[in-house]
Amino acid sequence: MISVSEAKSIIHKQIPLKGAETVLLKDAGNRVLAQDIIAPFPMPKFDNSAMDGFAVRAVDTKGATQASPITLKMVSVSSAGSPSNMTIGPGECAQCMTGATIPNGADAIVMVEDSSGFSDAYSVQVFLEAQPTKHIRKKGEEIQKGDLLISKGARITPSEIGTLAAFGYDEVSVARKPRIAIFGTGNELVEPGNDLNPGQIYNSNLFVFVELAERAGAEIIMRNVIKDDKKSLSAFLLEALNTCDVVISSGGVSMGRFDYVRAVFMEMGVQEHFWKVAQKPGKPFFFGTDESTLIFGLPGNPVSSYIGFMEWVWPVLDVMLGKPKQNYLIGKLIESFPREKVKYRFLFGKAWMEDGTLVCKPSSKIGSHMLSSSLEANCILGSETGDSPMQSGDEIRVNVLPWKEIK
Ligand code: AMP
Ligand code: MG
Repeated sequence: MISVSEAKSIIHKQIPLKGAETVLLKDAGNRVLAQDIIAPFPMPKFDNSAMDGFAVRAVDTKGATQASPITLKMVSVSSAGSPSNMTIGPGECAQCMTGATIPNGADAIVMVEDSSGFSDAYSVQVFLEAQPTKHIRKKGEEIQKGDLLISKGARITPSEIGTLAAFGYDEVSVARKPRIAIFGTGNELVEPGNDLNPGQIYNSNLFVFVELAERAGAEIIMRNVIKDDKKSLSAFLLEALNTCDVVISSGGVSMGRFDYVRAVFMEMGVQEHFWKVAQKPGKPFFFGTDESTLIFGLPGNPVSSYIGFMEWVWPVLDVMLGKPKQNYLIGKLIESFPREKVKYRFLFGKAWMEDGTLVCKPSSKIGSHMLSSSLEANCILGSETGDSPMQSGDEIRVNVLPWKEIK
């Protein structure tokens, strides 16, 4: 049995990086950038109006008030997408809409609300003294040409996809999705939708795995529930090792008489890096490699499988995708936490903000068979070994489930 930190460092030496592929922008959501994104032009690209109003020479509006307006000659219209090619001379102005190019000669915008309004008349009254640059969005005030907009490794969320579109990118280089094979093993497992005979249970772990793998940015290539029998296991594994980057199993890797997963991995030529890890839940955890394929054998108890995926597999998928390392948060316990003498202890937990401090508590259901402990949880709490339980007020590591919120 090895420690959690030893196991982490063994795994991290084996992670292959995925190459890149180009995808259309419309398909890039939730992918991970494999290139730095540089601004091909400044933003704004040209001086333009922040308001619907009149482009003026500020000096011409000096002293204008509601009581004594200044009259300007209206010589042109600049609307968004249709710039005016007129130059504004002394005493002149142009109608200028939001987003429209500022005509040459003008140095300020008077809002339409501060004028006699838009019309076809050749003159307009201005009720307010304009300040130079007022209501003008200056070329490059947000971003200069050549600025780094988004760094390689960023996940493409609405913010990134919007920025890419705003700079005209119609395709983008992203990390290839890791190809995943998952299987569950157990003669007792039945897929939802079928009746249960005595002693049978529904397979839930593979549904959790598929959901997690896809959220992590991977692609499920193979998925199957397999009987506890060597032949079926090796048939699945033969194909999985040939086609996938990561194989993840649930169940059949403990000390049970019918736990064949580890034996089959070995028979197939998988190199074992470790089998048992000093952690609870999930001690009988297998990690091996076959050329560049990583093999994770997680125990079948639903909480062990779920936490095992989040703590061991998810960070590996992040590395494969080129994402920067995620730091864990530290929270203050408001209840005791059942620390273990020789094992790292994981439990689903709930974390929230209280008076500016992150506080947390473990789930009240602590059995590794109690999947419902994940329902209220928004994090996984993790504690190093210790002789006695952690106490209220102690600080503990908080691994926030990425799709949950801390409120
Ligand atoms: P094992 O690791 O095969 O000894 O399984 C440990 C426990 O997890 C047993 O109670 C199994 O019935 C249960 N289990 C195994 N696989 C699954 C699965 N895919 N979905 C739900 N429970 C499972
Ligand atoms: Mg089993």
